[in-house]
Amino acid sequence: MKKVPRVVILGAGYGGLVTAIRLQKKLRYNELDVTLVNKHSYHFITTHLHMPAAGTDHPDNARVPINNLLNQSKVKFVKSTVLQIKPEEKSVVLEDGIISYDYLVVGLGSEMETFGIPGLKEYAMAIRSINSVRLIRRQIESMFAKFQEEPHSGDYLTFVVGGAGFTGTEFVGELADRIPALCKEYGVERSSVRIYNVEAAPAALPPGFPADMAQYGMNVLRRKGVTYKLSTSIKEITRDGVLLSNDEFIQAGMVVWSGGIRGNTLLEQAGFDTTRGRVKVDEYLRSLQYPDVYITGDCSAVLNGEGKPYPASAQIAVQQGFNVAANLINDVRSRPLRSFEYDDKGTVASLGKGEAVGVIKQWKVTGKFAVLMKKVIDMRYLFIIGGLPLVLQKAVFKKKAGHQGRRTGEFMQQH
Ligand SMILES: Cc1cc2nc3c(=O)[nH]c(=O)nc-3n(C[C@H](O)[C@H](O)[C@H](O)COP(=O)(O)OP(=O)(O)OC[C@H]3O[C@@H](n4cnc5c(N)ncnc54)[C@H](O)[C@@H]3O)c2cc1C
Repeated sequence: MKKVPRVVILGAGYGGLVTAIRLQKKLRYNELDVTLVNKHSYHFITTHLHMPAAGTDHPDNARVPINNLLNQSKVKFVKSTVLQIKPEEKSVVLEDGIISYDYLVVGLGSEMETFGIPGLKEYAMAIRSINSVRLIRRQIESMFAKFQEEPHSGDYLTFVVGGAGFTGTEFVGELADRIPALCKEYGVERSSVRIYNVEAAPAALPPGFPADMAQYGMNVLRRKGVTYKLSTSIKEITRDGVLLSNDEFIQAGMVVWSGGIRGNTLLEQAGFDTTRGRVKVDEYLRSLQYPDVYITGDCSAVLNGEGKPYPASAQIAVQQGFNVAANLINDVRSRPLRSFEYDDKGTVASLGKGEAVGVIKQWKVTGKFAVLMKKVIDMRYLFIIGGLPLVLQKAVFKKKAGHQGRRTGEFMQQH
């Protein structure tokens, strides 16, 4: 009997999950034996995480149980943590066993890039997962509680966000929106709260974002109470706050780092040729060293026309998922592989409630229209992974943010 080639997909993020869903849809009976491995039993919608982090949305609205999305007779799901990739042996070490493959798809996402900043790993929080955003929300609330207890003994209500790219901008927008409700709940004056967004570049939002749109975004957020420290980098983070490149020290109750990412360390450790942890790939998204290994999303470095890697984004990860699934099927059906070409449809950054800014194809969008466009982008993604039922569940029947207790959590213990 012919052996069915085994595909193992690592990570159920945007790239990995879309690869699995497309294979589930397109494969014929017994063409490929597909297994998806992920640390959690759910997929998290990373592009929504800034909301539960600030406490303006419930974390459950940013996640979907993986078993609800998969037909296990077509794609098996294994909930486990990947410890090591062994490309020479065509195997992967999981926390509870070893899994071997004929084809591997790596979509393990990214990690915080520290740029060697002292104290960053120890004292900064990051918007990276459902659990990390729960800790950020608790930290914000516990700082309000502390301030109420000891109003004169520290700058508990100063919140510093390092990095004003997409993640930093979207988070400060949500945080600014949450502050009035927290002030009311804890009986605190709004003037006691400060939100700083520190950015090494001269403007917020990613490089390449039109200058007038970046200005629009900053004006909206300034009106909501955000103070920018532009052309300024963070030199050091301590238990008490951040030291800036101009030697100013800002005492803070919470520091969130969103200043950069790098590919998952497991790839470097496995000996893949990487740049900032992201694996260099060929035109079909295969590792240059191991043609049986496809790399998607934040783990991959796809070069643009100028020879620079495209910025990591959900948009490119989803398109890669489509391409990798198509190429796995092409390969097994002995058809030529399809080159990956990124179609940049543009991006929209949320600026909190009722405001957003972005560029869609050549069109600049702001305000309520941009908010609508952001919703359309989100719904399109939900439709790709879960069809209409998921769109209705997430966009219409949402859970309320509510209160999730004010325990200080692990971060506070080390802080
Ligand atoms: C707050 C925020 C807002 C954003 N907004 C936008 C936006 O508006 N538009 C946009 O295009 N992009 C946005 N991004 C970027 C986008 O979310 C990422 O580029 C995208 O998630 C990358 O997808 P991925 O498939 O590479 O990895 P991820 O989506 O990060 O998924 C990686 C998966 O691997 C799993 N995993 C990791 N390590 C292991 C392990 N050792 N074992 C098992 N499983 C593991 C994780 O649990 C996760 O499920 C935003 C990011 C953030 C944080």
